[in-house]
Amino acid sequence: MTLSKIPLAGVIGSPIAHSKSPRLHGHWLRRYGLPGHYIPMDVPHDKLAETLRLLPKIGFVGVNVTIPYKEQMMEIADLISDRATLIGAANTLIFRKDGLIHADNTDGYGFIENLRQGAPDWDPKSGPAAVLGAGGAARAVIVSLLDVGVPEIRLSNRTRLRAEKLKDDFGNRIRVYDWVQAGNLFEDAATVVNTTSLGMTGKQELRVPLDGLMPGTVVTDLVYAPLETRLLRVAKEAGCVTVDGLGMLLHQAVPGFERWFGHRPEIDAATRDAVLL
Ligand code: NAP
Repeated sequence: MTLSKIPLAGVIGSPIAHSKSPRLHGHWLRRYGLPGHYIPMDVPHDKLAETLRLLPKIGFVGVNVTIPYKEQMMEIADLISDRATLIGAANTLIFRKDGLIHADNTDGYGFIENLRQGAPDWDPKSGPAAVLGAGGAARAVIVSLLDVGVPEIRLSNRTRLRAEKLKDDFGNRIRVYDWVQAGNLFEDAATVVNTTSLGMTGKQELRVPLDGLMPGTVVTDLVYAPLETRLLRVAKEAGCVTVDGLGMLLHQAVPGFERWFGHRPEIDAATRDAVLL
C-alpha cells in the first residue's frame, strides 16, 4: 500500500456530523498554508479497533476521538499518557512510526488554557472551586483543577453516587454536596464550573439558584451552544469574570494539531469565527 505524503488526521465518533473539529482543523491548515486533511469519520462500534489499526497504513498520523468512544481508547491504545489514565478516557491519538497507538486526553488542558486566556488574572489557588456535574467531562475538569492547585473542590451532581465515585478516585480535596444544595457552593469560590449538559440548546435549563455568585469569581460553562448560557449571563450581571465553553473546545485541539501537522496553532477571534460560521 502506498503511503500518502500529505498527513491525514480526523475525528472518530458516532454520530459525527455535528462535530466542529473538521472546521477548526481545516481553518488552521489553510491559515498556516500546511499540507494536510482532517476528516470526520462515523465508525460503527464493531469496526472501531479495526479502523484504528488500518488508518496509519493509509497515511493517517492520528485522530481525535469523541462520544461515545473516548473510554474505549483505554483498551485499544498501546500507550496511554498519565493524564488519560487518570481521567480514564482519551480524545487524541497519535499513530507512531513504530506502529503503536499513543492515547492522550487534552480536555483538561483545553479547559485550563481556556480559563487562562479568558481570565488572565485567574488564580486557581486563591479559593475553592464549585463544580456542577460528575459526568465524563467533569473527570477531566477535576483532574486539571487539582493539578493546578485548587485547595478544595465542592462537587454536586444530580446523581450523588457519581460525585462520590469521583471523590473516591481523586481524593480528599473533593467535598460532595447534594444537588439541592448546589446553589450554596458559590460563596467564597474562586472558580465556578458547569460541567452538566443543562443549559444547552434543546436541553433543560440549569435551574440551580445563582444568587450566591460573588463579584470577581471566575465562572465558566462547558456548554457552548448557546455561547452565553443563563449561568454566564447571571454571573456577568453579578460582577463575575465569565469565560464561555467554546474556548475549551478550541484549546483541546491544539496539542493534536501541533503533533500531526507540525505547527502550534493560535487561538484568537478569527479561530472562533471560523468555528462559529
Ligand atoms: P455526560 O457524561 O453525559 O454527563 C452529563 C452530566 O449532566 C451529568 O453530570 C448529569 O448528571 C448532568 N445532567 C444531565 N441532565 C441533567 C438534569 N436534567 N438535571 C441535572 N443534571 C443533569 O456528558 P459529558 O460528556 O460530561 O458532557 C457534559 C456537557 O459538557 C455537554 O453539554 C458537553 O457538550 C459539554 N462538553 C463541552 C466541552 C467543551 O470543549 N466545551 C468538552 C466536553 C463536554 P447525572 O450524573 O445525574 O446524570
